[in-house]
Amino acid sequence: MLPANASPAVLDGDAPYRLLSDGRLLQTAGTLAVLDPATEQPVGQAPDCPPELLDATVLAGQAAFPAWAARPLAERAACLVALGKAVEANADPLARLLTAEQGRPLAMARQEVLTCVHWCRQVARMEQPVAEHTDPAGVRWETRRVPLGVVAAVVPWNFPLMIAVIKLAPALLAGNTVIVKPSPFTPLATLRLGELAAGIFPAGVLNVLSGGDALGPQLTAHAGIAKVSFTGSTATGRRVMASAASTLKRLTLELGGNDAAIVLPDVDVPRVAKKLFMGAFLNSGQICIAAKRIYVHESVYEAFAQAFAAIAGAAKVGPGADERSLIGPVQNRPQYERVKELVEATRAAGHRFIAGGELPAGPGYFIPPTVVDNPPDDARVVVEEPFGPIVPLLRYADVDEAVRRANASEWGLGASVWSQDVAQARAIAGRLQVGTVWINTIHLLNPHAPFAGRKQSGLGVENGVEGLMEFSAPQTLAVA
Ligand code: NAD
Repeated sequence: MLPANASPAVLDGDAPYRLLSDGRLLQTAGTLAVLDPATEQPVGQAPDCPPELLDATVLAGQAAFPAWAARPLAERAACLVALGKAVEANADPLARLLTAEQGRPLAMARQEVLTCVHWCRQVARMEQPVAEHTDPAGVRWETRRVPLGVVAAVVPWNFPLMIAVIKLAPALLAGNTVIVKPSPFTPLATLRLGELAAGIFPAGVLNVLSGGDALGPQLTAHAGIAKVSFTGSTATGRRVMASAASTLKRLTLELGGNDAAIVLPDVDVPRVAKKLFMGAFLNSGQICIAAKRIYVHESVYEAFAQAFAAIAGAAKVGPGADERSLIGPVQNRPQYERVKELVEATRAAGHRFIAGGELPAGPGYFIPPTVVDNPPDDARVVVEEPFGPIVPLLRYADVDEAVRRANASEWGLGASVWSQDVAQARAIAGRLQVGTVWINTIHLLNPHAPFAGRKQSGLGVENGVEGLMEFSAPQTLAVA
């Protein structure tokens, strides 16, 4: 293990991408090409983990578990701090790599890297509660938290590094060993994270395995995995839940969303239009907690729609590596095709675009920010999660109606309320069937604040002490 004062490792950008398994950085016979979504050209080749290496990695995680779990909390926390320091020292190459494989503009990729640093440092400060009680018969009851074993962290392509760190940091702090599996579309920055971790954690404690579509199901069904922490689509989440049933794995599922934003009549229209524009289109709309249905009071609807469409029309769409770009490409070809089909279906249904709607010729999966003017509630663009740069503006007449329509969704991830009257916004928040409500802001996550989806948006909690406790089980001692 690295001493706390050691200098962080420096990544070699020319080195081949390697898996981290049992403390060793490995290449594999098979590889997967990772494409830059702005150019459709290869960025690098990721290892394709074969089933026998997955088995060996799970065994290594199990072997490393008892000693890691037995280490004092402060030592596990120190490793997380060291990982944060190493990520910070390599922030620039990691951000460039994220932009190349994920597509997002560089400033936002850098933000993601720095969020990872922040998470490592903050999670390292957390502790789990211990409950103690002596009953009238003199029996002393103590309930403390114990780790589970090998945790599988399954990550999507929209925030590859951040979502990996949100899972691995609390899992490791709680005393588990971890196998991180990035999406086949965006494994490269996570493999580099594995290289940094190799010099910090004991062998087998943190492993990073990339692979094709077969690897996720093999990992989540593996009998040696104690818990799956999954972020991805609701459809895949259901499959993960089914695959966990045979061995009763513990599960945390962070799934899709169709977040409503409710704009009250008293807002500063230009200001809120600007904030909600990024709320809807940051990362090309590929954020689980993006504003995906924007309900605007009829008294300000026209002004809001005009301001919003003007911002959308002026937004520079282009490669993330170009500093002038505000909106990068959609991350991958299948997602591009899905969003393109939704744009075409929305047009074919006769709904009006007030911005965007025309897709440029390739190369690159570019879709300009597309704004739909007050489609009916049963329009696909309202009912579905587009997970791309298209959003409907929806006119409402009174708050009760807005709340009812916002809640009329199978998802319940987040929502935002926009008003100068914070007391009223709080009252509305209390009526929304979602896990997080932002008031006059959006997208913010905090390592100390629980994040949990309701309805089809997930199961369990991430972040905060509650999220940390999902990586442990209660163990009660009764001492007579
Ligand atoms: P996805 O469900 O296709 O894939 C997510 C991960 O699961 C990838 O690593 C993938 O390889 C793996 N996977 C795929 N099939 C699997 C299976 N059968 N068993 C095990 N693993 C499997 O999701 P995506 O397209 O990468 O991401 C987009 C979705 O993620 C959106 O619906 C979005 O809302 C959701 N998301 C949710 C949150 C949240 O915190 N709630 C955050 C980000 C993204």
